[in-house]
Amino acid sequence: MKKKIIIVGNGFASLFFISYFLSLPAFPVLAFFSRRIYSRYDITVIGNGRFVYFPAIPEFIVGKKNKKGITLDIRPWLWRRNIRFIDDQVVDIQDGGRTVLTTQGRYNNDALFIGIGPAFRVEDIPGTSAHTFSPCTGPDAMNAFMQKLEGLQEGIIYVGFKLNKRDGFVAGRGGQMYECACLLDHALRKKGLREKFEIHFFSPNIEPGETGAITDRLAERGIILDYGYEPAEFVEGGMRDADGALIKADLVLFTPGIMAPEWVRQSCLPVSAGGHIDVDKFGRVRGLQNVFAAGDCSNHENPPPWVPHQAHMAQLRSEAAAKNMQAMLNGREPSHTYRFELSCILNMENDAMWLHAASDDKPPFWNIFPRHSRKLVVVKDLFERLYLFYLRYL
Ligand SMILES: Cc1cc2nc3c(=O)[nH]c(=O)nc-3n(C[C@H](O)[C@H](O)[C@H](O)COP(=O)(O)OP(=O)(O)OC[C@H]3O[C@@H](n4cnc5c(N)ncnc54)[C@H](O)[C@@H]3O)c2cc1C
Repeated sequence: MKKKIIIVGNGFASLFFISYFLSLPAFPVLAFFSRRIYSRYDITVIGNGRFVYFPAIPEFIVGKKNKKGITLDIRPWLWRRNIRFIDDQVVDIQDGGRTVLTTQGRYNNDALFIGIGPAFRVEDIPGTSAHTFSPCTGPDAMNAFMQKLEGLQEGIIYVGFKLNKRDGFVAGRGGQMYECACLLDHALRKKGLREKFEIHFFSPNIEPGETGAITDRLAERGIILDYGYEPAEFVEGGMRDADGALIKADLVLFTPGIMAPEWVRQSCLPVSAGGHIDVDKFGRVRGLQNVFAAGDCSNHENPPPWVPHQAHMAQLRSEAAAKNMQAMLNGREPSHTYRFELSCILNMENDAMWLHAASDDKPPFWNIFPRHSRKLVVVKDLFERLYLFYLRYL
């Protein structure tokens, strides 16, 4: 009998999981036929069918990317792999992971992978949902920010982030917000409006006086560094401090810390101190049989404090989870772990930096790329094109 596998979510973690779980097709057409003739697994994905390439969202600011270009219907990619798709939302997981409940149905499985992405701790600072925009909520929120920005001829813009560090790593989006601040500077300069705007960068997670390459990039763009600052509340027209003082802002682009979505807490899934799905170094959900999770919804076992949630980390984790699920379905113990690596290109449009740290000190791509060069803007764009080509056609 074929083993029934359910995958929840159709974002980076789930798609990487599928890519590693199924052997890579050398010829997609051959794979299309061979998987229909013989397959050991009956795989179902439950999600909304829309894949969003989040790393491109900051580039909405310079008009290079838009919602249509970075959102794609993932159902043809699943169909080519003979994977059943259910357009629904999971609301609960029961029976130690064997039963998945959606708004419309109930599905049993022999093995489960959870890649449901992040929820944002918007309640951390009151007024976050009502008075700030975030690139991390998706293309619509970024479009709303852009619409408001386009209506301004002058003003004060605050860009910032807060992290959730309670699980011992960086659950939040710092790098993305640095990128947004630099791209905002670039876009306003191109319009000849930079002198009319103040751009502030704030985060309670950066020590006042902190130095380094990113700080240098912000400072050389005239961005005002409010390191260490956390408002007590976001309000109409700005932010309020604990003493009631109003800090005026015409626009706030802010992203809070990350945890797993709320419904997880009512399910049978264990939750870590920081609010993530609690997994071990093999990607197994603790205490449950044949249940795995990866990506922004889950924590790490013994992470280095610098490791962030990233699509890149989702890839490394999903690879281990896929191999371990295969081992367990074949009666073997899981043995695949993953490296910790922070790797991303900070695109400033007129400049770029490769931010990198790895638990094994391996350089990115054998060091063939420069660490600081405008040419990296093209490299970043190339990675995006290649990945979207793979999802569209292979
Ligand atoms: C602005 C921005 C820039 C970024 N830049 C980079 C970068 O340069 N490099 C990098 O490596 N990373 C970057 N990241 C981070 C990266 O996008 C995330 O780490 C990555 O998307 C995490 O993958 P995921 O699968 O865990 O979550 P997601 O990609 O968010 O996918 C989650 C999936 O689960 C689905 N889902 C959620 N809840 C349910 C439910 N209840 N039932 C069914 N389906 C559900 C969603 O619809 C979605 O399909 C960036 C993120 C942002 C926001």
